[in-house]
Amino acid sequence: MRQLVELQVKSTSIKDLTNGYPLILKDAIETTEVTIAEGSLVHLVDSKGGYIATGYYGEQNKGIGWILTRKEKEKIDVKFFVKKIREAAEKRADFFASEDTTAFRVFNGEGDGIGGLTIDFFNGFYMVSWYSEGIYSFRNDVYAALKEVVNARGVYEKLRFNTNGQYVEQDDYVSGEKGEFPLIVMENGMHFAVDLNDGAMTGIFLDQRNVRKALRDTYADGKTVLNTFSYTGAFSVAAALGGSTGTTSVDLAKRSLSKTIEQFAVNGIDYESQDIKVMNVFDYFSYAARNNLKFDVVVLDPPSFARTKKMTFSTAKDYPKLLKDALAITADNGVIIASTNNASFNMKKFKTFIDKAFTDTNTRYKILEQHQLPEDFAVPHNFPEFNYLKVVIIQVIN
Ligand code: SAH
Repeated sequence: MRQLVELQVKSTSIKDLTNGYPLILKDAIETTEVTIAEGSLVHLVDSKGGYIATGYYGEQNKGIGWILTRKEKEKIDVKFFVKKIREAAEKRADFFASEDTTAFRVFNGEGDGIGGLTIDFFNGFYMVSWYSEGIYSFRNDVYAALKEVVNARGVYEKLRFNTNGQYVEQDDYVSGEKGEFPLIVMENGMHFAVDLNDGAMTGIFLDQRNVRKALRDTYADGKTVLNTFSYTGAFSVAAALGGSTGTTSVDLAKRSLSKTIEQFAVNGIDYESQDIKVMNVFDYFSYAARNNLKFDVVVLDPPSFARTKKMTFSTAKDYPKLLKDALAITADNGVIIASTNNASFNMKKFKTFIDKAFTDTNTRYKILEQHQLPEDFAVPHNFPEFNYLKVVIIQVIN
């Protein structure tokens, strides 16, 4: 039997929780002297024992669990998960019906009512990501529910709850047909090769869909494009398909070379006509500056934190510096696509980093577009802090 624990909420946190705040923060809880097993159900109550909400206990870097329902009598069983997944799938009806996009998010954690759980669709296959042992304890019910709602070719999963939320290495196959990887998915007519059973990442970050489209449709034609922190080169593919006269992809991971070649190849692009550099972006900036290289469009999409032997980089601290480095090798009146997925600051703060870089270098600029999470990455109403993605497309004015 699953443990049921009653936890008293601090009076200062009640309002947010009744307004739909989905996360159970350690700081919001008055009760201290209990040990709670992962996956326990928790009843949040006020100081008089009045019911507020039901959640599950699951430690993540963000908090100690998530709210599941605000109805005291509601059972957390297969039926509950069916309802949640069905509602989420219905909201994505347009994606399921799309002929030129076959990869998208079906279920986005707290935005769809169950924090710590995401489900992505890849051309008939489903990939379920579990962010705590707590939510993983509902595995059987969730898979039974998924089976009831959708017709999956096959199911894969990612366990993302090792220390610090790291990926747990395992065979990620769960059920159904085994995928033949790379599996080719489509996104707005572009092709991407993905592998659902090759470590933490799949080869494509689905949350950048609208940005790739913007790059292809609006900014790439006739331009040279530098793609930094390029991973498998998805932005480079978008640029090349949009008519770029040459892309340069820079990533220090060795495997990025073969993965980027693969992404070009599945789109019929001659990869030999594109530049792929396996190196540290910061070394590349120096190299490009020394050789007077300039790019019409520069894409910046760094990880929130990165550590190499020589240095550490944190977007929260170092983004202005990164932008200045990029500016130094951006052609006159070029465009910079600045992106970050660091959840610790919001769009407003991100724009102050941008402003600082341009002010410090006495350069004028104009914001052309901004993007946050796309529609399928649903975010809880009233709580924009869960919308972690921030992308600003900047026109440099020289
Ligand atoms: N822009 C990519 C995703 C970037 S993921 C996309 O849209 O698909 C972050 C990437 O940054 C990883 O591939 C990692 O290898 C790379 N990386 C981290 N630190 C780096 C550094 N200092 N120089 C170059 N690449 C780096």
